[in-house]
Amino acid sequence: MKEDHLFHDIFGLARQVKERQERAKELGMFVEDRDLLACPKCGLEEDVTCHGLLIVSKASKRGVDTGLRFSEVDTAQHRFHCPACGANFVAPESHTRGSFC
Ligand SMILES: [Zn+2]
Repeated sequence: MKEDHLFHDIFGLARQVKERQERAKELGMFVEDRDLLACPKCGLEEDVTCHGLLIVSKASKRGVDTGLRFSEVDTAQHRFHCPACGANFVAPESHTRGSFC
């Protein structure tokens, strides 16, 4: 009986976290549900500002948001489309970079 309540409490909390992550994404925040992306062809890359906003910059102008965003074309295989050069690529397993402040 207690375990049923515990399961429902945990399930409810997990749903709340997921809903807040989705809302944060809608607001342009990076919720760390995946690694930051970088296009292997042209070098366009994601970064996170000090305020947690997800931006996409050219490697030559880091920290300057282009306004472009990568789009996911295959969720199961983690394939993304580069809005700058049109390349499709698989997100790397662990591409991490610190944010700039
Ligand atoms: Zn590209």
